[in-house]
Amino acid sequence: MRSTWRSDELFKRAQQRMPGGVNSPVRAFKAVGGTPPFITQGEGPRIRDADGNEYIDYVCSWGPLILGHAHPGVVAAVTEAARKGFSFGASTETEVELAETICQAMPSIEKIRLVSSGTEAAMSALRLCRAYTGRDKVVKFAGGYHGHSDGLLVKAGSGATTLGIPDSPGVPRGCAENTLVATYNNLETVAELFERHPMDIAAVIVEPAAANMGLVKPQPGFLHGLREMTLRQGALLVFDEVITGFRLSYGGAQGLFGVTPDITCLGKVIGGGMPIGAYGGRKDIMAMVAPEGPVYQAGTLSGNPLATTAGLATLRILGAPGTYERLEKLSARMEDGIVKLLAGRGATFSRLGSLMTVFFTAEEVRDYSAALRSDLRRFAAFFNHLLNSGIYWPPSQFEAAFVSLAHTEADIDQTVLTISRALTESDLKGVTN
Ligand code: PMP
Repeated sequence: MRSTWRSDELFKRAQQRMPGGVNSPVRAFKAVGGTPPFITQGEGPRIRDADGNEYIDYVCSWGPLILGHAHPGVVAAVTEAARKGFSFGASTETEVELAETICQAMPSIEKIRLVSSGTEAAMSALRLCRAYTGRDKVVKFAGGYHGHSDGLLVKAGSGATTLGIPDSPGVPRGCAENTLVATYNNLETVAELFERHPMDIAAVIVEPAAANMGLVKPQPGFLHGLREMTLRQGALLVFDEVITGFRLSYGGAQGLFGVTPDITCLGKVIGGGMPIGAYGGRKDIMAMVAPEGPVYQAGTLSGNPLATTAGLATLRILGAPGTYERLEKLSARMEDGIVKLLAGRGATFSRLGSLMTVFFTAEEVRDYSAALRSDLRRFAAFFNHLLNSGIYWPPSQFEAAFVSLAHTEADIDQTVLTISRALTESDLKGVTN
């Protein structure tokens, strides 16, 4: 059994001084139990904790580390930048280069604004959509996560598919009321909202591949349908590509599926592991952002030189030929291995590129309510077996696992072998508990 005394001690101290002992809720392992390992370092596909345990990492900082931990090229670039100063609150050439690189990779983005997190990106993008259209309401999908800004902390409460109900105390009712909730992969639910609120809907915001209810792929026609409907209704289409941008392909999900949004939100990979976010899109819409236009949005650390340097170094490496093919091959190897293990086990595997989820439900998961029917006890047993065997899988059924370019075929094979044992463990727990 893995030793955990040092992490146990740190977690106790952390709980004295930070809510739940963490700075972001999922890190507390509430859904799976036990003490979260306190991480001391990462290298390539592996992380090590304070007790000296090593893990093959499939969280990868929740997505940014597509190159793995401490990639030498990124470390060198950031070290060099750090020597020249951490932040100026003034313009730098690296910001311009990062903006140009992103616009070239995603032609729907003609102009872009860098911010410091995905939350900020989505929140600011919707303010812009409201200003541009002169409309107040926004459609999101149940199980879609776009950061923790007030208006976006809303999903369908049971039986309340059209009225926004806040998920968190502290979100004003009035704020949540402008958020309408549709069902992922179900265009009819979106059409109904447009019928009920004609001329009131500023934007539809969607994760083009949903990765915050576990990985749920868009069904054929869903994204194209959203594009057509928003155009017809004079609403804007916002792709939240905070996870999928530069992950599903160099051109993101929009490149992969061939659907052009009006506005795109980015984060994670574009900062290479440093805090960043971005929103961008059509020139005429972005022209409304201050100081070019009247929509106010600002940030002391926006375009931070270390973050933009890490991001630019990451994107340059990703831009080399064959990168995404290699990532796909590794991820497909994982899929091949796992799918064979799942037959007859009441579990399903969902994958798109290097994003993947084992759902502990027999049905194919196409929306949030199907994801919610997963057996969470079985997931917890599965997770804990993996953790104790040196595999750091996301500690929640409703998060995607991330494969990086640093993982090797041997890592994948070792993971599949360990997963086969973890599934047996979770079967037992499912029966006996
Ligand atoms: N959008 C999506 C799709 C996300 O997955 C996340 C975070 N996982 C966010 C927005 C918020 O980003 P951040 O945590 O950087 O605020």
